[in-house]
Amino acid sequence: SDVDYRIPAVVGRSLQVPLVTGEHIGYANLDHGASAPCLEPVQSAVDELLPWYASVHRGAGFASQVCTRVYEGARDKLRAFVGARRTDSVIFTRNTTDALNLLGRALPRGTSVVVFDTEHHAALLPWSGPRVRRLPAPETPADAIAALDAALAECQEGPRLAVITGASNVTGEVWPVAELAKVARRRGARTVLDAAQLAPHRPVRIGELDVDYVAISGHKLYAPFGAGALIGRADWLNAAEPYLAGGGATRLVQERSVSWTTGPERHEAGSPNTVGVHALAKACETLAANWPDVVEHEETLLRRLRAGLRGVPGLRELRLFDADHDRVGVVSFTIDGQDPGLLAAALSAEHGIGVRDGLFCAHVATRRLLSRAGSDADRAVRVSVGLGTTAEHVDRLVNALRRLVAMGPVWRYEQVDGRWVP
Ligand code: PMP
Repeated sequence: SDVDYRIPAVVGRSLQVPLVTGEHIGYANLDHGASAPCLEPVQSAVDELLPWYASVHRGAGFASQVCTRVYEGARDKLRAFVGARRTDSVIFTRNTTDALNLLGRALPRGTSVVVFDTEHHAALLPWSGPRVRRLPAPETPADAIAALDAALAECQEGPRLAVITGASNVTGEVWPVAELAKVARRRGARTVLDAAQLAPHRPVRIGELDVDYVAISGHKLYAPFGAGALIGRADWLNAAEPYLAGGGATRLVQERSVSWTTGPERHEAGSPNTVGVHALAKACETLAANWPDVVEHEETLLRRLRAGLRGVPGLRELRLFDADHDRVGVVSFTIDGQDPGLLAAALSAEHGIGVRDGLFCAHVATRRLLSRAGSDADRAVRVSVGLGTTAEHVDRLVNALRRLVAMGPVWRYEQVDGRWVP
């Protein structure tokens, strides 16, 4: 093949936030929207902590004290990362899904929930009962604001929660978070921001957006899997049944009674993921120290990507809003006559490019956007860029798509001399 797989050192170096690339030199990971590679400072922070690995909160030993301090210190770092209010709780979870489910269980009885059905399943599904109202995909940001306003106006008495997404994991489009939160506030509703897809790309400031809760995932923020957080108002969380029952969440257990603690520990029973939380906090600190470079890097690549994709015959981009609406580095599309699954497989097998295909855990949204785009495919291909992406990765993708399209619409693989060839 004429593709040059020798990739220059990782892009992050010029940003002073190099990534851990392992042996993947040459592999173009264009799937940052699913999980982002680990930053080197994050790996160093983990390496530094591992020799001190010990229980938190419960041990009197020195290593336990170190780990407790690291674990509790991470709360302050996350608080700073999202600009949380002094009184907000920072509860560590496994990921965004876990954080939103925790909030779903902590809602006061009779809470009305309004959510757009275009949400990722993690934000769409944790709410149940007759007081959940699902709104259809808006055509414009102004439609979204008006629809939320009208839905909240119709809610019965009692607590209300509006679920807002920061950036779509299907289209990368950034939602008008502050405006939606303002409407919700006016209607007496609280808001939760699913920031899984926004927080790795842009600063998320609770105070400026005026949202009540924020959920994030470490593995999308250039930290390893297994740690995320729910950050927000403590009152509902302190009044709710503990998310997990067990050690660490209790104040006093007697033969026939349990008194639960308040504060984040109430929902964090069991031995926590100290290393994951430490990694997440380091990733947040590193991003916060590099925002202008991070944003510029992604915007440059996104422009290059979209310009390149425009030149691929038959390509239909999925989007909710206008083509020039603000978005993070995520683009989903179909190509007329091409099966998205085969396209993704060929990009991987023949070009060393990792993308994602499917409905992206947002089935309703993706199907609706496919139909809006006039595509007859039943799923799409998603490309997402980040700190591990170079211009060469983007160009390789665009060239690969052009070549695959030129090869024609129907493919199958055959074994020739022991090799699978299209
Ligand atoms: N919300 C959005 C917008 C997402 O992109 C994702 C991950 N694809 C999630 C929620 C869920 O994140 P996690 O799988 O880390 O719980």
